[in-house]
Amino acid sequence: MTLSHIRNWIFDLDNTLYRADVDFFSQIDKKMTAYISRYLALQPTEARMVQKEYLAEYGTSLSGMMAVHGMDPTEFLDYVHDVDLSMLRPDPELRNQIKALPGRKFIFTNGSKGHARNVASHLNLFDLFDGSFGIEDGDYVPKPKRSPYIKFCDIFDIDPETAIFFEDGVRNLEVPKHMGMATVLVTSDADWSDEPEITRPAGLTTKADFVDHITDDLPGFLAKANPL
Ligand SMILES: [Mg+2]
Repeated sequence: MTLSHIRNWIFDLDNTLYRADVDFFSQIDKKMTAYISRYLALQPTEARMVQKEYLAEYGTSLSGMMAVHGMDPTEFLDYVHDVDLSMLRPDPELRNQIKALPGRKFIFTNGSKGHARNVASHLNLFDLFDGSFGIEDGDYVPKPKRSPYIKFCDIFDIDPETAIFFEDGVRNLEVPKHMGMATVLVTSDADWSDEPEITRPAGLTTKADFVDHITDDLPGFLAKANPL
């Protein structure tokens, strides 16, 4: 693995800095359904279809709700990110490996900045990061669209050629790869059958050409990347 040129380590938050099979994110997923159901006065099953349709088409369900229905993002984000963190357990090995990485470390999430702080703090990782970039920092334009990645690199003065991006959502790796970053798809045994096909991790067998590495063991991957 040739990662000796990497000086900027960029991590997605949800289902990347904790394992997707912990099933933490399903709480947020269900709260999004509830909010959309109330906001659009739809039955939960219809609201869920809208939610997943917008996720596939706009990058996040929030972006679809803003574009199509003019919804205010603030209340939505506060509501969906108000979840029980107790099932997330700090992983001391992940902490050690992130801490040892040479260079700067960042969180880049399609959730809010407050959510990044809450979750990463609960995982005992937040203090290791040099910065975090939330959906509000990209003016609510989410990954996989190009503009938030450009803005992220501008704000933190990152040369993409010296950066690596870790993500559980495969489509979110396409732009970073084209910008010159190395890319890592973080997978797990989680059940993605409820997700639109386009938003699922590609898995080990259908490797996309913009994915450099695939791992189901983030601390193990970082251990190999870290100098001994
Ligand atoms: Mg994610």
